[in-house]
Amino acid sequence: MLLDSYNRKITDLRISLTDRCNFRCFYCLPNGEPPLARKETILTFEEIERIAQIFVSLGIEKIRLTGGEPLIRRDVPELVAKLSALKPALTDIALTTNGFDLPRHAKALKAAGLDRITISLDSLDPKNFEDITGVDALGKVLDAIAAAREFGFEPVKINAVVVRGRNDHEIVDLARFARENNISMRFIEFMPLDSGAEWDRTLVVSGREIKETIDAELPLELIDTTRGSETSWKYRFADGSAGEIGIIAPVTEMFCGQCSRIRLTADGQIRTCLFSTVEHDLRSVIRSGAADEEVADFIKAVTLKKEPRHYINDTAFTPASRTMSFIGG
Ligand code: SAM
Repeated sequence: MLLDSYNRKITDLRISLTDRCNFRCFYCLPNGEPPLARKETILTFEEIERIAQIFVSLGIEKIRLTGGEPLIRRDVPELVAKLSALKPALTDIALTTNGFDLPRHAKALKAAGLDRITISLDSLDPKNFEDITGVDALGKVLDAIAAAREFGFEPVKINAVVVRGRNDHEIVDLARFARENNISMRFIEFMPLDSGAEWDRTLVVSGREIKETIDAELPLELIDTTRGSETSWKYRFADGSAGEIGIIAPVTEMFCGQCSRIRLTADGQIRTCLFSTVEHDLRSVIRSGAADEEVADFIKAVTLKKEPRHYINDTAFTPASRTMSFIGG
């Protein structure tokens, strides 16, 4: 079992496959090409497979592949197939994607053993979608949702980051879309992880406000009063319609006490928190020829350094050492 020093059980590993992205969402990676990790520092699929196997031997149950945009990396289904060999100890393999390339890969990902897909979609208005992401691709993302459904990734999950003045007027439309398409729609508060450093508290639409906005038009019922290590409060529509609403409020309702996550960046650094100001160089350990037990000891020691909580709401908040697209959301 992988335990941190606050007795939190770490069962959820997020692996970033690349720090590159084909979108330029203003709240994540605005403006141009950022300084990317050098190619030779990016973990190979063989390295990722070995690291994942060691993590699973230590108690990791769920792996989520992310980025950057993970589907920019070639042959992701091959990696998924390798990870699938770690089942049943590994119970769940998921992918977070902007959906742009998903229709091409959905069938192969399913065949390789991918269990779940989360697609990011912040607007249903083509013009606003382009304003937010920098890409005229709403149609592509809607195709991705259809492809996810066609190849059996049910329920389809969608992430929408809500930012004041940019898409908060679309909250009810997105909720209605979830209802009409039997989607699990998760609304996320804007976090200070954008590379443009534009985050400001006034831009955060609280989870509570998001819930109340939906509830006023489409009454909601809380599904479960406890959420375990889940990040979201989940609601159903009170009239029994299909679909589900999730509210993820890391800024206004911190859930660090239940955190079960640890992250691996594309260049092989372990991050014990999204907001970590330090990273732990697993790539060097792996490339030094360390035996599996030594790698496991390194991971266990790093896990003990997991931060008790984030400090977004403290006056002395120090931003994370890397921003979201480099960490893997
Ligand atoms: N490219 C993929 C995608 O678009 O889903 C995976 C990586 S992306 C960094 C993962 C998730 O993080 C997306 O749902 C994205 O909207 C979210 N995200 C990025 N920056 C964020 C921020 N500053 N605050 C909250 N969520 C953010």
